[in-house]
Amino acid sequence: MIKEFLQQHGEYHDDKKFSDLTTLKMGGKIAHFVLPESIDGLKSIIAFLRGNRIPYKMIGNGSNLVCGSGSYDGVVICLKKLNSYEIRNDEVYAEAGVMAPTLAMALAKQGLSCLEFASGIPGCIGGLVYMNAGAYKGSMSDIVKEVQILKDDEIIWLNNEDMQFSYRHSILHDHPHWIVVGAKLRLTNKPSEEIEDLMADRLRRRKETQPLEYPSAGSCFRNPEDNFAWKLIDGVGYRGFCKNDVCVSDKHSNFIINTGNGNAEDYLDIVYKIQDKVKEKYNIKLLMEVEKFNC
Ligand SMILES: Cc1cc2nc3c(=O)[nH]c(=O)nc-3n(C[C@H](O)[C@H](O)[C@H](O)COP(=O)(O)OP(=O)(O)OC[C@H]3O[C@@H](n4cnc5c(N)ncnc54)[C@H](O)[C@@H]3O)c2cc1C
Repeated sequence: MIKEFLQQHGEYHDDKKFSDLTTLKMGGKIAHFVLPESIDGLKSIIAFLRGNRIPYKMIGNGSNLVCGSGSYDGVVICLKKLNSYEIRNDEVYAEAGVMAPTLAMALAKQGLSCLEFASGIPGCIGGLVYMNAGAYKGSMSDIVKEVQILKDDEIIWLNNEDMQFSYRHSILHDHPHWIVVGAKLRLTNKPSEEIEDLMADRLRRRKETQPLEYPSAGSCFRNPEDNFAWKLIDGVGYRGFCKNDVCVSDKHSNFIINTGNGNAEDYLDIVYKIQDKVKEKYNIKLLMEVEKFNC
């Protein structure tokens, strides 16, 4: 019954694993995976799942998730088919499934400054808004004008202040069932060449400093106030530490990478060991930035 309903409203799969859908390439089987074809399709799916008390989880590009090896008996919903955007004067309206680097490049070509900081963040607009993703002293909170949200059965718009953005946090963390459908982002004019040079420089810096050649979920831990997670990890001697196919990167010790057939259990074992050692040595509680799911 679930399968038949989902098939009517989107592209449906019953053979996906989280390892197919996450940048860390870890995680077990998913009972139902659906990519809604439209906002109306998404609304129908959510109404059906809520009405039948069927658990569901939103996923963007899966670049901030570590997923357990067990099966998930609910529905994973991905908005990558909601991937259009429209430039209107000094703003762009982007649907939640648009990839941030794709949009950043397209805007740069038109001399529109907005998402330069996010050109190397491998997530969808919905995921970036959820996380208030940021880099190089910029974050989504600097450019979001309004966010379009499916709240229960209705579409609402929240402005920047309503979103309660703070470091890697938004109001969505307190309302896990609200779904970002789209966002209006602020644009300013700048020469294309200037924007493209800046983005190229930042991508080069990322390649030099981050282990982009391995699957990862980006920075594992949040930076504590006035400190850096990587420094604390180095301080307790965990740079390069491995458990089976999961390693603390030699190149950037806040990246935990999958060197082969790594799993979430080993990933989290390393996380907990680092947290214990950092607490013991520095009396600092390192918090995860990467989200655990079904673990
Ligand atoms: C190599 C690499 C580099 C990275 N660099 C950075 C960086 O510089 N800065 C930074 O902040 N992050 C960085 N990240 C982490 C990650 O890319 C960001 O957190 C990003 O915002 C996650 O977006 P996503 O679409 O992949 O979300 P996912 O990982 O798919 O989901 C993250 C959370 O958002 C929720 N979510 C996703 N879409 C929606 C939606 N439409 N509505 C409601 N909830 C939703 C999910 O349920 C989940 O709780 C990096 C990751 C990698 C792999």
